[in-house]
Order: sequence, then structure tokens, then C-alpha cells
Amino acid sequence: MSRLSEQLLALNIAFIVTDKNLLVEALSTEAEKLFRVEVGKHLFCGDIGFVDDQYHSIDLRSLLEGMISSQKEGDLEVGISYPDKNVEWVKISVLHQQGQCVLHAVDQSELITTRRLNRQLSMLDPHTGLLYREAFLAKIESDYGLGLVCCVRICNYQRINEIWGTAVANLVFMEILARVSNEIEGAICSKHSTDSFNIFIPPETPFDVESFYSVLNAPFHFNGRHFFSNVALGYYQEKEGDSHAQSLNKAEMAILDVLSERVRLAEFQEDLARQIEHQNNLETEFRAAVAQDDLGDSFYVVFQPVHETNSQNVIGAECLIRWTLNGKMVSPVEFIPIAEKIGDIGVLTQFNIRKLQELIIELKKKGVDSDALLFALNISVVEILDVDFVDKLLVAINSAQLNPRNIKLELTESALIDNFNYVNQVLEQLQMLGFKVSIDDFGTGFSSLSYLCRLSFDEIKIDRAFVTHVVDDIKLQTVFNSIASLATNMDKPVVAEGVETLEQLNYAKKKNVQYIQGYYFSKPLDSDDFIAYVVDKTADGGNNG
Ligand code: C2E
Ligand code: CA
Ligand code: CA
Repeated sequence: MSRLSEQLLALNIAFIVTDKNLLVEALSTEAEKLFRVEVGKHLFCGDIGFVDDQYHSIDLRSLLEGMISSQKEGDLEVGISYPDKNVEWVKISVLHQQGQCVLHAVDQSELITTRRLNRQLSMLDPHTGLLYREAFLAKIESDYGLGLVCCVRICNYQRINEIWGTAVANLVFMEILARVSNEIEGAICSKHSTDSFNIFIPPETPFDVESFYSVLNAPFHFNGRHFFSNVALGYYQEKEGDSHAQSLNKAEMAILDVLSERVRLAEFQEDLARQIEHQNNLETEFRAAVAQDDLGDSFYVVFQPVHETNSQNVIGAECLIRWTLNGKMVSPVEFIPIAEKIGDIGVLTQFNIRKLQELIIELKKKGVDSDALLFALNISVVEILDVDFVDKLLVAINSAQLNPRNIKLELTESALIDNFNYVNQVLEQLQMLGFKVSIDDFGTGFSSLSYLCRLSFDEIKIDRAFVTHVVDDIKLQTVFNSIASLATNMDKPVVAEGVETLEQLNYAKKKNVQYIQGYYFSKPLDSDDFIAYVVDKTADGGNNG
């Protein structure tokens, strides 16, 4: 035994001395336990294997042979893997001394465990145990070919959370995940957000999307409570040339499309990608437009006359905003949600108010008694929930020298539901300031009578959906009639919008609807046409002298 070996033995550490062919010449008891070899044997004669910290097997023998032949020294981090599947983590320092190779092993288990744990934390969501997106993509990238990618969203997660609390909402989430693993063997899931997750279904896995969707939506029961999960599922079958990351985006896009529908199951369609791109372009253009003075001259306001049903007099108009982009009209139905999303909806209201001011100045010049007219502005939910809404509105109305008495604010029914008490307080405040409040699109939201009785409003607008086919659809007649009689009982006037024909007008008249708005009388008109229209009608009708 060499002097070095004697010294190392005395230190009671794990070391092995081999010749240049890796035949063991000396070793400590520690090393004997670790490497399961004895003097005279080849270092790699035993039945142990070696792995890296991701449990991938490594060829330690070749590594050492290489280091011996090049006389290279250094450290190797390895897991020694035993037949019973135990792994010991060590750092092996390799030294060369007078034709011998000295291996010195130091325990590394704590370091490796911490490292693995950290890696796991960065890969796995601690609440659900699901892989995060990056780790999910890396896994399917390395292990699979083209599969089916799904995005699952629990649409009523927020509701469950509000009613039953976070713990129950999480249980629902985990229950739905469990259904996924029960249904699809080998499914790999990843966290998307609080209420949604993604699934990768490996190729050739038996899978029927319709029945899977109904399993996810089957009601379930905890602690005597019954839940209807309301799950949306978007999916995409990967094709040659797709990247998993793109496929994941596509499944997520598919789900966006179904969120508004009742059947919430959708396969990704290339159309959708184009639509989303169009949407993104619109958003960019919209941002650019609102950043300019007076909205860059690409917006204008049209006024749709509202008539009194019996006398047919014009009693006012609804202000409707228009946007022309590269010579084409963009519908407010498309850009209002963008404005709401990026928080610029108030800018549009202020624009409406300025245009209304200009209109009123012109009406006055023509001798029209504009004080007798009522102008409607559409107010979005997002806007009314802004705590400074009333102040901002008053500033705009005052600086446009308008009188709140000539302004009606239209709010959709859906705007009221979620924040009933708060919104109702705001409405009361607005009414005290002299504004009228109208419930727009009535009948499309959830019209709970108890809410309606407590709500501060002045008028109901029956949604166009009920008016359009009211003449020949008995069911629509029932809805129309109940809304009309509800309003009569509450002593509130009704506006029917979307009246296009004489039959519709007569129907509304029979049901005591006081006001009519629709193409039967007039489409929305630009300011000059509206002025001409009012001047003409008031001359005919004798209104305003
Ligand atoms: P809304 O408040 O329900 O407005 C009525 C919509 O019905 C208008 O569409 C109007 O042009 C259309 N309309 C009226 N009469 C008829 C008819 O007889 N037949 C048919 N087919 N349509 C009729 P528009 O102008 O496209 O506006 C759509 C929606 O966009 C509005 O629905 C409103 O919710 C929103 N909107 C429009 N302008 C503004 C605005 O300045 N601010 C806000 N926040 N929303 C606006
Ligand atoms: Ca409206
Ligand atoms: Ca409406």
C-alpha cells in the first residue's frame, strides 16, 4: 500500500486507489460499502449503475478511462444506483499519482435533494401538483410525438369560490383533474390558471371527445352539496409540422371561442386564429386612435331618433358611436369590448358628450327646442364601476354645457347583477343629479324581480331580439308581453328597440309600449341628417312650434 493510501485510510474517508486499468489496489471501508468492490477486482465488476441528477444513466467507466488516458483530474457528480433502486449521491474527485488513479468520494445527498426539490418547485404548481407550462412542454417535447392538446376551463369556478369558498373550489378543480386521469390513461396535465388546465393526450390513446366532455360536466357531490361543474373544453389535434407550444395556444384559442356559448366544446379552427389576429390588430389600431387628439378623427357619433308611439313625435335620440378604420366601418360590438378591456371606454363617453354638445348647438341654431329632447348615452359596466365615474361624467357634462335633465344613461341589465348594491347607489346618485336611467337590452340578462323592485331606474328598453320576431313567434310574444306588463305595473315607460315594420310598431302600441326606436322610423343618422330629420318632423308634427 502506498503512503497516500495509508494516509487516506487513517482519515476514514471513502477512497479507492486503482491502477490505470481500473483494477482496485486499495480502498477504504466507506468506499467498499459505496462501490461494492474489493481489492484485486475491476472497479466496475459489480452490479451497480451510475446516474446523473435526473436519473439518466451515465457511463462512468468510459468517463474515468478517458480521464486516465488524458491524465485529467477533476470532480464528477454521480448517483450510485443499487439493484434495490436506492441511489447514493456522491462527488468523486479524480487524482492521478505515480501511474495510479485515486478516487475520493464525498456524500452529496443533501445538495442533490435540495437541487431536485428546487427544480421540482419551479416545475410543479404546489397547490395542484400540476406541471407548469414550460415543464409540460419540455416533457411532451422529449417524450411524445403528435397528440391531442386540450384546454379545460371550469367556467363556474369563480362562482363556486364566492359561494362555497376557496377550499371547495379547489376540491372541484382536483375532482375534475381526477376525472381526467380516470378517463385518459397517460394524460399529462399542466396548470394554466386558477380555473383552467391543459391536457396532452399521447398519440394512439383511445379517446372520445364527446363522452370525455360529458364526464367532465357530470354533477358531483361533496359533503351533501351538489355541484354542476360548468366545464369548457377546447382542443386541437396536432398535425405534422406543429410545435407543441403552438398547439397549446390553439387549444386555448378554441376555448375562448366557446366561452360565450352554451355548448362549451370546440375544436380549434384556423378561422379562429385569423379572427384573433384581426382582434389583436383592431386593439393596436384602437390604442393608436385613442392616443390622438379627438380620437384621431376616425370616430364619429350617429343619433338614432326615438319616437313617442302614439303621437309619433321625436322625443330624443340614442347616441351611437362609429369608427372608420382604413375606410371601413368597425362595429361598436367589436370595439366596445376592446375599449373596456384596455380601460379607455370613458374616452368614448366623453367623445359622445362633446359631439352631443355640437349637435345641440346646431339644433338650437335651427330653432329646435333641444331642452325638450332626451339624449341617450350608453354606459358600460366597466365605466360605472370606476369610483370616479360620476365625477368624470359631471365634469364632461358641465364643460359641454349640457343639462343632466336632457341625458338618459343606458345600462345593460347584465351590468347590474354582479355589483348590484354598489351600482344601485351610483344610479340613485345619478338620478338625484337629474339624469334618467334606462335598463338596456332588457330580457337578455337575468331579470330577477326582487332585484328589479329594488333598482333605481326610470325606463326599460326591450331588447331587439324580442322585437324582431314578435309578430310571428308566440314564445317571444309571451316574453314581450310580460316585460311590457311588468313595466306598466312598476309604472315605468318602455322603449321597444329594433322596430323595423308597421306590424311590429302596431304590436308594441297594443302592448302600451310608450316609445319606439328602430329602422321603421329611422336608422341612426349623422348629425346633419339628424338635424334635418328633427326639423322636418317637428314641422309636420307641430312639436316645438
Ligand atoms: P344598443 O345600445 O342595444 O344599441 C342599439 C343597436 O341596435 C344599435 O347598434 C342600433 O344601430 C341598432 N338598431 C337600432 N334599431 C335597429 C333596427 O331597427 N334594426 C336593426 N337591425 N338594428 C337596429 P350599433 O350602433 O351597432 O350598436 C351596438 C351596440 O354597441 C349598442 O347596442 C351598444 O351596446 C354599443 N354602443 C354603441 N355606441 C356606444 C357608445 O358610444 N358607448 C358604449 N358604451 N356602447 C356603445
Ligand atoms: Ca343602448
Ligand atoms: Ca339595446
